Amino acid sequence: MVKLYDLDAYATEFDAKVVSCEAVTYNKQDVYAVILDRTLFFPEEGGQSPDKGVINGLEVIDVQIKKDIVTHYTQSPIEDGSTVHGIIDWKHRFSNMQQHSGEHIFSGIVHREYGFNNVGFHLSDNIVTMDFDGVLTSEQVADVEYKVNEAIAKNVEISVAFPSKEELAALEYRSKIEIDGAVRIVTVDGYDVCACCAPHVKRTGEIGMFKVMSVQNYKGGVRISMLCGFRALQAFREKAEVVSALTNLLSTSQETIVERVGQMKDNVQELKIQLGEVKQNMMLAKIYDIPAEEHDVILFEDDLDTPVMRNVVNGLVGVHQGINAIFVGDDESGYRFILGSNVEDCTMVAVNLREAFGAKCGGSAGMIQGSVNTTRARLELFFDPHDE
Ligand SMILES: [Zn+2]
Repeated sequence: MVKLYDLDAYATEFDAKVVSCEAVTYNKQDVYAVILDRTLFFPEEGGQSPDKGVINGLEVIDVQIKKDIVTHYTQSPIEDGSTVHGIIDWKHRFSNMQQHSGEHIFSGIVHREYGFNNVGFHLSDNIVTMDFDGVLTSEQVADVEYKVNEAIAKNVEISVAFPSKEELAALEYRSKIEIDGAVRIVTVDGYDVCACCAPHVKRTGEIGMFKVMSVQNYKGGVRISMLCGFRALQAFREKAEVVSALTNLLSTSQETIVERVGQMKDNVQELKIQLGEVKQNMMLAKIYDIPAEEHDVILFEDDLDTPVMRNVVNGLVGVHQGINAIFVGDDESGYRFILGSNVEDCTMVAVNLREAFGAKCGGSAGMIQGSVNTTRARLELFFDPHDE
């Protein structure tokens, strides 16, 4: 079968003969596997998602390659032996070409300047990433990113060739593996030589723009997320919209937005601390009102921080006999609790709470702390079983 995309990355329509069409179950769907004598559909290969498009007006839902045979999947059958007309989704294909060509230039520069290899490439409709087997600093990534954009501005040629075995042996190129059959070499003039099966743009200017979106440490190297061309434009639009929404919301400019959000975060932190103090004072006032002769004081609250809970229990234990506790939460999401006593062994209560409700808790004889998923009614009954 002839891979038309090998020879011309820009052709969008083709005629072909149907070699076979079989009903198959693929990805849990009943579909048809169509093999043609020639195709423009680039399959899922080398980490790149397949071309989209139609054959005789039928949507091609996936394209796979196995043992050099390209299979197209459709939802309706196509007659064996018939001649069909195929059209690939050019917008989608061209976007893939922009991303992939940009990746080659970036990887070529990284290989030349730092000696690292691109050991993983993923190009789907949602994400483009490349994995390198060495760590690059953010300054190095920014420098390579700039150089890729220089290569784009120079508008150099990207060419495809199938060198002979002898020529290949003498050629320095990335992704050098011993394979039978022709090796397809993609050369970005002055930047990169690499074995690759995918369609590329003819000149670097068509890539439009190259932008690194994020860098993370990955398997001893780095995973770099990148975008080219119209995808980079789309990402820029989205980011610009977010910045614009934020600057409007906070009535400030792009230059001061980070500082403003930082200040707001500090303010929220400060208010949280103040609110915690207020709550603590309220709680302490509340427990001072409980008559000293009351024992086994069990309190329930919606929301309190752990240090406040601890102070409350310490306050109770100093005055009231028996087991004193505070439970914070609600019946639906469960309760955090602290429980204390200066006469009884709290670790025994912990054992009983675990047994009764599967509570997660631990501590000392004087005080235990934990969480439990049950209702307030059941807890109240647990601590005062005779009160019915
Ligand atoms: Zn490639």
